[in-house]
Amino acid sequence: MSDDQTLKPVYLNLVPCHGCGACAEVAPEVFEMDPLTDRPVQLAEEAPAETIRKAIAYCPNECISTDEE
Ligand code: SF4
Repeated sequence: MSDDQTLKPVYLNLVPCHGCGACAEVAPEVFEMDPLTDRPVQLAEEAPAETIRKAIAYCPNECISTDEE
């Protein structure tokens, strides 16, 4: 069982990323855009399930994932 505040691992795959910045906007505690590379930098290895769910939903290229329940 996990609720929305349970910490889960965050995985970021930059291969399909096109630098839209949505992840950093919806989850600034987890992702920050690097102005030099125009790609996100991952700030935390884990995040609340709800935060990860939001970031996954807003990433258009399916770069973000976590462990299955
Ligand atoms: S939301 Fe996805 S495609 Fe956009 S910058 Fe973040 S990881 Fe890259």
